[in-house]
Amino acid sequence: MNFDQLRKEMVERQLRARGLSDERILKVMEKVPRHLFVEESLRHRAYDDCALPIGEGQTISQPYMVAMMTEVLAPAPDSRVLEVGTGSGYQAAVLAELVSEVYTIERNPALSRRAEEILKNLGYSNVHLFTGDGSLGLPEHAPFDRIIITAASPDVPEPLKAQLADGGLLVAPVGGRFSQQVVRLEKRGTDFRERYFTPCVFVPLIGKYGWDENEI
Ligand code: SAM
Repeated sequence: MNFDQLRKEMVERQLRARGLSDERILKVMEKVPRHLFVEESLRHRAYDDCALPIGEGQTISQPYMVAMMTEVLAPAPDSRVLEVGTGSGYQAAVLAELVSEVYTIERNPALSRRAEEILKNLGYSNVHLFTGDGSLGLPEHAPFDRIIITAASPDVPEPLKAQLADGGLLVAPVGGRFSQQVVRLEKRGTDFRERYFTPCVFVPLIGKYGWDENEI
């Protein structure tokens, strides 16, 4: 399969045609080999307009959702970013192309190990992987200029709001168990300005400040 061609088409038809316009991000979406972040048997579907299973009941998000949330996150080249929900490692790779340091935390150790292997093989040395409850953030590495949560929670976890730098941006899918909306918080001192974007459906953030595992 010609994955380079599939990636170009993905960028034109799924991203640019839907109004995404940040050339830096579009270029990265055209560069990062998404097919290497899914199992071999699903590689032919890696550039389809949908989320795909990555094992352990989890998913790699739809390309549009990855690019859209990255655009809303407005990463700067010198940003230190925290991602909650490493999953396949694909979003972390996209971010690693755009910013100086990416910290990413995943609750499932098997997924974290696999993502680490893929990111290492691709040469991403600015991604730091952690295993644990990401709803608690990574206080020892805070503050972060940007925080992106790639699993859904009823509200933005308070520890993550606290670990955001002043002037920083946090993007997350927030809402009910089966449908959410992408929200962006901008931290201004002790205030947070909120802006809402597209509706979405994400797997749950399971943890102290997300959903209780027994409720799922
Ligand atoms: N960003 C990922 C990618 O590029 O493949 C997709 C993330 S997937 C939609 C959501 C991930 O969040 C799952 O891998 C899930 O195990 C993880 N997750 C759920 N609750 C979590 C928590 N409290 N802390 C860290 N990761 C969590």
